This record gives sequence, structure tokens and C-alpha cells, in this order.
Amino acid sequence: MTAAAPVDFQNTAFDVLIAGSGFGGATAAYALSRAGLRVLLIERGGWPNRDETDWNGRSILLEKRYRGETPLLVRQGGASEAVETFPNEVVGGNSVFFGGATLRLRTTDFSRWPISYADLEPHYAEAEALLEVHGRAGEDPCGPPRTGDYPFPPLALTAPARRIYDAATALGLHPFQLPIAVNHRGPREPRCLNCFTCEGFPCRIGAKNDMTQTALKKADPSRLTILARTQVTRLFERDGRIVGLEAIDGQGARRLKLSARTYILSAGALGTPALMLRSDLDRLDQSGALGRNLMRHCIAKVGYLFPFRTNPQAINHKQICITDRYESVRAADGTALGVIQDICMPPREVVGALAPRGFRWAASLSAASIQTLLCVAEDEPRAENRVRLVPDRVDAGGLPVAEVIHDYTDADRRRRDTLVALARRVLRRAGGLVGKVRFMDHFSHAVGTARFSRSRMEGVLDPDCRFWALPNLYVVDGSFMPTSGGVNPSLTITANALRVAGRIAAVLAREAA
Ligand SMILES: Cc1cc2nc3c(=O)[nH]c(=O)nc-3n(C[C@H](O)[C@H](O)[C@H](O)COP(=O)(O)OP(=O)(O)OC[C@H]3O[C@@H](n4cnc5c(N)ncnc54)[C@H](O)[C@@H]3O)c2cc1C
Ligand code: SF4
Repeated sequence: MTAAAPVDFQNTAFDVLIAGSGFGGATAAYALSRAGLRVLLIERGGWPNRDETDWNGRSILLEKRYRGETPLLVRQGGASEAVETFPNEVVGGNSVFFGGATLRLRTTDFSRWPISYADLEPHYAEAEALLEVHGRAGEDPCGPPRTGDYPFPPLALTAPARRIYDAATALGLHPFQLPIAVNHRGPREPRCLNCFTCEGFPCRIGAKNDMTQTALKKADPSRLTILARTQVTRLFERDGRIVGLEAIDGQGARRLKLSARTYILSAGALGTPALMLRSDLDRLDQSGALGRNLMRHCIAKVGYLFPFRTNPQAINHKQICITDRYESVRAADGTALGVIQDICMPPREVVGALAPRGFRWAASLSAASIQTLLCVAEDEPRAENRVRLVPDRVDAGGLPVAEVIHDYTDADRRRRDTLVALARRVLRRAGGLVGKVRFMDHFSHAVGTARFSRSRMEGVLDPDCRFWALPNLYVVDGSFMPTSGGVNPSLTITANALRVAGRIAAVLAREAA
């Protein structure tokens, strides 16, 4: 997608600069370029490699081939010491690694949002078309109203997924086929091979409908320029507007000063607040919410050992979702309980390497006989859960390092444990013998750190996801979400980015008239 002739970025007149190419940023780039605007999309990661090691468990999960160079300190669960981490960085953001689950929030999830489900519904439909989602309408027992079916029907159930489906049905539940953004029946090539290394891995052949294969391919190439391996370091404000930004290329050799009419941040719910704090924009935020209210769902994996090999063909079977109890705690605490989804085991060499010393051989041997369910519970926004800058730490490029501080509430854990108890019943009914639960400590579903709101005292962004204090600055990644809801966030981020891009295009058209 990069323009054929070299682009002089600093002397090109762009209408819109976007920082970050995940679901939010790439979708906005797609929509705005198609609206005729000149867009520069800046991403700190490089392009996906799409080679053999992209499907290698050791390379991706253990050696962390896509690991970036920007450190992030993480202090969670009340720990006194922070752990240094290096998140993956790549064009397409976490869409490159995502599992493809593309669910809509439910009508009730919008009770604390400044917009309603009806406001987002047309954009959900547009997002499903953009991501070429495969699903079947009308099966989800608590699914929200829809104006149409999914773009493509789902793949027939695989044997491991059928096992979960039958067990859940026997327990009186209503499992259904998880809507998936993977190219089984879409118009483009290549089609999915249903391999075993999907969630957590880039698709070596490009059959996963990530942002590089959808939004960035469908964008107008004459209007969109993509600048990879370049990190946005700071925005500059003057007289109530953003007037420019600074970026450095991967080697730190070149500092770029860039300007446009409008700026969009989409560096992820951990990256966007860090960038806004580095730009001193917290002094303009009257809500005090910038960087706070970090949510990430309360997630557990429940694995059961079966007396047979659970997936002898080694295929992807992330196909089932259970939402029966979604509304069961709404009256008590105003949240969703969440969902249970079928999920593949990691490759056996990874299971072995991650097991405690002394159990590694047994763990890798038994991996083939384990089947796993993922429990995703809603977590509550809390001001204490936040991203902040560490005063006395800078990274190799001299930028202040960001720290993430997070802990769950007892209610978050209760919701998760309720889902875990149900997942255990399903797996036992399916023939599982003994089970083990792992609580997930990653931030793959991070949202909430620059929430949108009805008033400038309640949140960082207005209902159009524009920074309340500056009319030409928007945020379109998961930061905008005031609550996490009980489903995976990507489709909602994509739908909202389409909604916001429409608003931005209208504003810029009015200004130009
Ligand atoms: C293994 C895994 C599986 C998942 N599975 C699912 C799933 O099945 N369904 C689902 O809905 N969700 C899933 N998720 C979550 C989903 O991927 C995220 O919710 C989503 O990607 C968030 O989108 P975003 O636009 O907010 O940010 P991101 O995708 O995080 O994108 C942010 C981008 O900004 C870049 N960036 C950051 N700082 C800067 C800077 N200063 N300058 C330039 N660029 C910068 C980053 O490198 C990154 O590319 C999964 C996540 C992971 C990790
Ligand atoms: S399951 Fe399909 S989309 Fe996923 S990595 Fe394998 S081939 Fe690609």
C-alpha cells in the first residue's frame, strides 16, 4: 500500500495523520481515504513477515519474534514491583494476532455509554462487511437486533467444536457458532487452511481477515500512505488545536515533524494515553480520566484432560460461543457476566516450555489430550487501574516509560469464576476427566483509558470521540470504551472507528466548503 514513488512526508499536505494501525487506526484510514481525504498512517511496527516462522510456536510465543522495542512496565494484582514487558508491534496491530471472534455488544451494554446500540448498529453491519465475518444470524440467545445476516455463512463444525456443542446442548444451554473474521468463503484468495496456529499467530498465508488483509487493502491507495517502523513521540498544541506531531523512525536516525488538519490517535488503550501524557495533554483534560479506568476483561482458560486425543487432525476449532448467562448479573451489579468460547490449545512445544520444571515432558505429552474453553467476564472501570508515566525512567530513545497498574475487584473475579464453573460442567459433560484453570494476566483486551462521555467532566472524549479540549484531535482505538461489556472488543472498535471517521469526514468537508 505504500506509494510507489518515495514520499516526502514532511512536505506533503495531509488532511489526517493517524498514529497506530490496529483495528481503530486502520479502519479510520480505510474510511477516510475512501472519503477522498489524504491520510498518513504511522505505525511503529514493521509489516508482518508472512513466512514459515509465523506459524512456529517457539518463534512467535516463546522467542516473541514481533516483540517491539518500546518497554512497558506492568504492575498487577497489588504487586509492589513492576515487570518490564515489550508488546508486539506490527502493521495491523493486534488484529494480526487476534483469534477472529467478532461479536457485537448487546443493547444492555450501552447503558453507561453516550450513544446507544441503535446508533452503532449500521456501523456494526459495515464493520462485519469490512472484516468479511462468517456467522449465522438468529442463533445467539441474547444477541442484539440486527438489520441483516452476516456476509458469509460459517464453516461446518469441526469434531472438537461439535464435542463442545453437544455437551453444552445436553446441559440445556444454547451454544452457537462464533462469528469469525477468517476467510473461509470470502471473495479473496487465499482461503483458510484451518491450521492449528491461528490465535496468537500471524497467518502465514494471509487468510485471517486482519487489518492488513481487509481495511488496508480496501483503502484508496492513491489517498493513503503508510509509514511503518515509525513511532509517534509527541503531539504539539497551540491556541486550542493540535498543530503538529513528532515521530522517529525505527532506528532513531530520523526525527520527522508532520502536520495535518486533523489528528487521530489509535495506539491502543495502553499506547494512546501514554502518548497523550507525553504530550502534556492531561493539563487540558477536565475529567481527570485520561489514562484511568483501564479494563481488560477478567479472563480464564479452563483445560480438561480427556481419555483420547481431542484434536488429532490438529485443526483450528475456535467455533463455539455460549452466552446463556450473559445477563444473569445485570440486575445485581449492572454488568454482563460474559461469554464462554471454544479455543485451541497452544502447540505442544509451547505447553511444555511454559510448564513448571519437572512437569515439562508430561505437559507436552498430555497437550494432545486436553481441550480448553475460554471464559471472558466483564470487568469494571476503576480509576486506580491506569496507565501513567514513570517520572525517572526513559527508554532508549529518551521517551518517558509508561507503567500499567491494574487489579481486579472481587466482583470481577466472581463473574469470571461463575463462567469457569459453567465451563467445567461443559467440559466434564464432553468427557473431560480432570481440569485445570489458568487466570490470564495479559492485556490483550485493554480498553477504557480515554473514555467518551456526555460531559467534559465525566470523560476525555466527546460522543464523537473527539478530545473535549481540542477540536482536531480524535481517538479511535479501544481507549474510548467506558465499559468493557462481556464480548471480545475488536468488532466494536472497528464499528466505532467507522462511525467516527464519518463524523471527521463531514467536519472536514464543512471546513473546506
Ligand atoms: C492473541 C490475541 C487474540 C485476540 N483475539 C481476539 C478475538 O478473537 N476477538 C476480538 O475481538 N479481540 C481479540 N483480541 C483483542 C484485539 O486484538 C484488540 O482488542 C484490538 O486489536 C485492539 O485494537 P486497537 O485498535 O485498540 O489497538 P491495537 O490493535 O493494539 O493497535 C495499536 C497499534 O498502535 C501501534 N502503536 C502504539 N504506539 C504507537 C506510537 N507511539 N506510534 C505509532 N504506532 C504506535 C501499535 O504498534 C499497534 O499496531 C485478541 C488479542 C490478542 C493479543
Ligand atoms: S486457521 Fe486459517 S486464518 Fe488462521 S492462521 Fe491458519 S490458515 Fe490462517
